[in-house]
Amino acid sequence: MQTNDPAIWRKNLPWPDRNTHKHTRGRLGVVSGRAHQTGAARLAARAGLRMGAGLVRLFCPPEAASVIAPAVEAIMLTPFSNADALARETEAMDALVIGPAAGLDEMTVANISAVSQGGAALVIDADGLSVFKGRSGDLFAVLDRDDVLTPHEGEFERLFPGLMDQGREKAALEASRRAQAVVVLKGFETVIAAPDGRCAVNPNGSPWLATAGSGDVLSGMIGGLLAQRMDSFDAACAATWIHAQAASAFGPGMISEDLPEMLPRVLMSLWKPD
Ligand code: AMP
Ligand code: MG
Repeated sequence: MQTNDPAIWRKNLPWPDRNTHKHTRGRLGVVSGRAHQTGAARLAARAGLRMGAGLVRLFCPPEAASVIAPAVEAIMLTPFSNADALARETEAMDALVIGPAAGLDEMTVANISAVSQGGAALVIDADGLSVFKGRSGDLFAVLDRDDVLTPHEGEFERLFPGLMDQGREKAALEASRRAQAVVVLKGFETVIAAPDGRCAVNPNGSPWLATAGSGDVLSGMIGGLLAQRMDSFDAACAATWIHAQAASAFGPGMISEDLPEMLPRVLMSLWKPD
């Protein structure tokens, strides 16, 4: 098992060059929950934009649009009324984040199944994982190898009951093999595992991350890098390290809204202009 080391992936971070424009820089979609549950998706969307996705679009149930619209600026908004419409509307996306505050109901299952038919790399988090409790095979059946699952320990246990008894690294690797997708098992020492056997343990965990919404920010960060076509394992490793670095740099009093705003500082510390 390797340690998640910025030296390994920093040269692969998708820095823009002079020919880049917003469309080639990657399009990220984030699927919002209902009107009273839009904050998680907004955090993820803002984090994706800060990570360099050229275009970020929030997809929301129609009744949520009037809640979200006044709270976003550079982020575009597309209402959708059912899973088929969501699949159509998200066709142009390079990556999609789905699950944060999505709701533990069949609509979330249908939405995940629908968007998995398209070409976007998926980051599936939170309710998008928990809703498959007792039926994880239904989730695994729709995943591709470049998709990323980001469970905390509770969500992991719901999808992979008993696996954690093997220890976090073995558990994450076995989960990734079963899901045939990248698995990010979150915690103080987040483990990132890929179906091809790559596995890394993140060394810079920050307890300031123990605050509501920080996982939603991480999912958006991974999505932002996937939209820029970074390898999924590398994107998950890079985002995990940068996320913790941002939290440590902010320190006491940090809330999740602060995290996206700290990302430029951390990215600047990694950027090596020619
Ligand atoms: P979530 O539980 O989905 O909101 O995700 C929480 C995020 O914060 C994950 O990225 C965790 O790895 C991180 N996190 C939570 N608690 C701690 C902690 N005590 N130390 C380090 N990281 C933490
Ligand atoms: Mg979470």
